[in-house]
Amino acid sequence: MAVVIIGGGQGGFQTAASLRAEGYQERITLIGDEPGVPYQRPPLSKGFLLGKQEQRHAELRPAAFYEMQRITLVKGRVAAIDRASRRVALDSGDHIQYDTLVLATGARNRQLSHEGVAYENVLYLRTLGEAAEIRQRLEAANDVVVIGGGFIGLEVAAAARTLSKQVTVIEAQERLMARVVAPVVSEYFRIEHEAKGVDVLLNATLRGIGEKEVLLGERTRRPADLVIAGIGVVPNVELAIEAGLPAGNGITVDKYLRTPDERIYAIGDCAECPSLFAETCVRLESVQNAVDQATCVAKAIVGHSAPYAAVPWFWTDQYDIHLQMAGLPAGFDHVVTRGNPETRKFSVFYFRGERLCAVDSVNRPADHLAARKLIGARTALNPDQAMDEDFDLKTALN
Ligand code: FAD
Repeated sequence: MAVVIIGGGQGGFQTAASLRAEGYQERITLIGDEPGVPYQRPPLSKGFLLGKQEQRHAELRPAAFYEMQRITLVKGRVAAIDRASRRVALDSGDHIQYDTLVLATGARNRQLSHEGVAYENVLYLRTLGEAAEIRQRLEAANDVVVIGGGFIGLEVAAAARTLSKQVTVIEAQERLMARVVAPVVSEYFRIEHEAKGVDVLLNATLRGIGEKEVLLGERTRRPADLVIAGIGVVPNVELAIEAGLPAGNGITVDKYLRTPDERIYAIGDCAECPSLFAETCVRLESVQNAVDQATCVAKAIVGHSAPYAAVPWFWTDQYDIHLQMAGLPAGFDHVVTRGNPETRKFSVFYFRGERLCAVDSVNRPADHLAARKLIGARTALNPDQAMDEDFDLKTALN
């Protein structure tokens, strides 16, 4: 018996660690194409850019952990999966045999295709190496342009502004984080960023990038020593497809996170699976999703298979604002707000028909914790209760 995991990121690491925690005794090989030991990405766009956290703070475990747990870390890129002979081929020409294979290949940044993107001042943020380069280049930069007003872009903008850079955020949509939060939350973050001095340009079309500027619309330009693009990711599905496995917006898995090949699972950013909390299959990009799916697969491998059922949650930190999201708001038809955005502490409750489907909490961690339980238990909570700050959310669980 042997488990091989492709991808030494959050999900790959967690699969290996959970397998040992579940008592799995056989060989575990974790293959990753990044240098060093597995690390977590959230600090890269937050404390690491500010110089408050170092590489060692991002590392999930020290090297000794892998030795102690008998987890073999292999550095290299898997080039192919041979399902018939159950082995993977590495770029180096080596082959590794598996009984069970876990694909945790993550995602890569979507690239800009505009004129000027080859300038060396255009950077992306996914890896520790890229974060280190941005951190170093920020030191000398004065004008920073962030392309994309999603989580990563806004976290980078907040860090750059905290470091006293002149920051412009260019967002093509009419509001920030439009894909994931309600207008009230987008508006709150626009106001906060602008109050800090960030120039937030909405409905803004990028025309091209010059050596020291970005070009927008007809005549508008912004100076830019550094351009950081955060325009979403593309899941790493090619390896699975080449091995004959199905993939859409992610490697297709069932509710047990298994591909149609019963020896192969896929988890984390690269996988698309049915969700109890959405009407369609979803591919989520979050630490919680990677960790909980890894744990679910580790249990399945040791014989305790169960459908994946964890409540999705996510967070982002921008300045001193901690936004926590629980559930999936897709398809919501109305929202109510608990608390007042002007106090910098409020939560937005999303309803799909009668059902509470998601809650975004700004600096209200207790609401977030209650929300995860309420959504998981499919509790009936009505909008009036949600809005009423005197109503204790925990009582709805009883
Ligand atoms: P990854 O962690 O990306 O790991 C995949 C690994 O597989 C990579 O190392 C990749 O190089 C490797 N790989 C791919 N193909 C191969 C191959 N063929 N052979 C060998 N190795 C391969 N989530 C949150 O919940 N909260 C946050 O605040 C947050 N902040 C973030 C900040 C940043 C800057 C980024 C980039 C992400 C952030 N995320 C956050 C998202 C979260 O980090 C990801 O959802 C999570 O890392 C997904 O884990 P994963 O294992 O699926 O993929």
